[in-house]
Amino acid sequence: MEKIKTLIIGSGPAGYTAAIYAARADLNPVLIQGLQPGGQLTTTTDVDNYPGYKDGVMGPEMMEDFKHQAERFGTDTRWGMVTKVDFSKRPFLIEIDDKENVLAETVIIATGASAKWLGIDDEKRLSGSGVSACATCDGFFYKGQDVVVVGGGDTAAEEATYLAKLCTKVTLLVRKDVMRASKAMQKRVMNTSNLTVLFNHETKSINGDPAKNGVESVTALNNKTNEEVLIPASGFFVAIGHTPNTDLFKDQLDMDENGYLIVEAGTSKTKIPGVFAAGDVADHVYRQAVTSAGTGCMAALDAERFLAAQE
Ligand code: NDP
Repeated sequence: MEKIKTLIIGSGPAGYTAAIYAARADLNPVLIQGLQPGGQLTTTTDVDNYPGYKDGVMGPEMMEDFKHQAERFGTDTRWGMVTKVDFSKRPFLIEIDDKENVLAETVIIATGASAKWLGIDDEKRLSGSGVSACATCDGFFYKGQDVVVVGGGDTAAEEATYLAKLCTKVTLLVRKDVMRASKAMQKRVMNTSNLTVLFNHETKSINGDPAKNGVESVTALNNKTNEEVLIPASGFFVAIGHTPNTDLFKDQLDMDENGYLIVEAGTSKTKIPGVFAAGDVADHVYRQAVTSAGTGCMAALDAERFLAAQE
């Protein structure tokens, strides 16, 4: 069976930064890219807050840069999904794509987080026919049309203002009477003339036929007055936060109530010696590319020191 010194799971900024450091420390890292190679940033357009890119950079281009930098030092980047892990003894037994097994002396988990859905039937029924969780990926298809966005955080504010540039009219449904988004983002929302915010409104149904025109309207319910409003729209964007990708590690690693991995404060160490976590999978607070990259670096250094201490 193949033996790997450092196996990295995930290909976002955390995974690739861990790979850059691990490769430069001669740990011969193997990085398994997962379902969405490049991670969440591949669904973004401009990234203006990553240091070093003084004129900004497109998310997918930045992730290609990360990949090339990691590969320049010998990172073995592989397609595939990790489908099972056994952290009960070292080296850890890791299954890839339900078939291939490898043994890893250290594992760096950088599986990130995925967009959350409302959980209503219409969302599934009209998925790919007008329902989306990524404005920057799908907004283009709604150019010159009306859309609805759900959520009250920074993601919703960002997606709604992005869509307002392309669409004729954007309606933002916020379930409380306040938005959770930062003051700066709220200001941007309020200053966008073709963006209307409906506070205290929840989604009752998304209307339309997937076999015909897809989404045609959204029925929203005012949770204070119980009044319904029918909003004509051809796109429905869900922007209500993210869920960490940690199902694989249930019962083996400690998690908080939302499923984020718990690491020893100020380190990337999980409760299993030799298993480290980096990026959004262990961070529900900052969730930035640069903080993910920072913890990816920490994870590689922690793995290197762990292996050195074993010798
Ligand atoms: P948040 O968890 O901050 O916000 C989620 C929003 O969705 C809340 O307003 C919440 O409502 C609402 N919501 C949750 N479930 C439902 C539901 N079932 N129906 C209707 N509304 C719902 O997630 P974000 O993704 O917005 O942000 C996560 C983190 O990432 C934050 O720290 C944010 O600052 C950061 N971020 C920063 C950006 C930037 O700096 N450019 C861009 C995007 C995110 P309620 O308030 O009622 O709970």
